[in-house]
Amino acid sequence: MTDALADTAAHDLYSIPQDLVDFRETIRQIARERIAPRAGEIDREASYPWDIRKLLAEQDILGLPFAERYGGTGTGTLMLQIGVEELARACATSALILMVQELGTLPIQLFASEEQKEKWLPKCASGEWSPAFALSEPEAGSDPAAMRTSAVRDGDEWVINGQKAWITNATVADFYVVFATTDRENRRTSAFIVEKDRGGFDPGQLEHKLGIKGSPTGSPSFTDVRVPAENLIGEEGMGLRIALGTLERTRLGAAAQAVGIAQGAID
Ligand SMILES: Cc1cc2nc3c(=O)[nH]c(=O)nc-3n(C[C@H](O)[C@H](O)[C@H](O)COP(=O)(O)OP(=O)(O)OC[C@H]3O[C@@H](n4cnc5c(N)ncnc54)[C@H](O)[C@@H]3O)c2cc1C
Repeated sequence: MTDALADTAAHDLYSIPQDLVDFRETIRQIARERIAPRAGEIDREASYPWDIRKLLAEQDILGLPFAERYGGTGTGTLMLQIGVEELARACATSALILMVQELGTLPIQLFASEEQKEKWLPKCASGEWSPAFALSEPEAGSDPAAMRTSAVRDGDEWVINGQKAWITNATVADFYVVFATTDRENRRTSAFIVEKDRGGFDPGQLEHKLGIKGSPTGSPSFTDVRVPAENLIGEEGMGLRIALGTLERTRLGAAAQAVGIAQGAID
């Protein structure tokens, strides 16, 4: 292959389709004009920027992680990461609002029933609801299989007990995707949707962080929290597969956020 041909091939491989470039311009402008001026204040006050969440919802940016049939933009993973990068360049907290919209709903997008998808996804795509992804525990970070939170079946309900840690969106999420052991002997876990107003649920205290301060990170706890059987995602025992299948995808967002923060620093 000549050098010119090799250049063309590389260009095609890495070039971004024009419609995504246009969407990036829109997000870049919103980030520059409306989010960047708030970034310092968000960091100083360490409070969740509800105004930015509303703005991202109004501009369809919170729809980026979702398919069109659930009210999303249907623009795919590349566009989502471009959006995360552009937001992070102006404000890391604002980027995380978008990232958690993906993290907290991927278990549903990838593994839930059609009925569950229709119930939970459209309101997240519109930005009306925000989710949280509750996997980590004080003694179960890198090794999620060591989790102690448990769920026991009682008739048509599951009863959840345990303590999570480092959960993004704690205190602001409308629902939590909670991972719990359902068969300790065989180390099997399952994933449940827990609405914020369930009895026995406590969103817990927030961490004081060095960065991304407007994004609440907390330790929600569950004391005899009862959820209906229909809140189980996928099948009983699928928890680890759901967690790892989700994290495999969201690592891309963490990388895009890091690139955006670095670009913002260089700028
Ligand atoms: C800002 C923030 C937001 C977060 N948001 C969420 C969230 O929304 N939901 C959620 O579930 N979790 C969340 N987390 C938790 C995050 O996923 C965990 O911090 C991560 O899984 C690591 O767990 P840990 O902190 O307990 O570290 P540990 O597991 O204790 O690891 C500490 C260090 O030891 C290393 N290590 C661990 N095990 C091994 C091994 N076997 N061999 C070699 N090295 C090893 C690790 O790489 C790491 O460097 C968040 C964390 C932060 C800081």
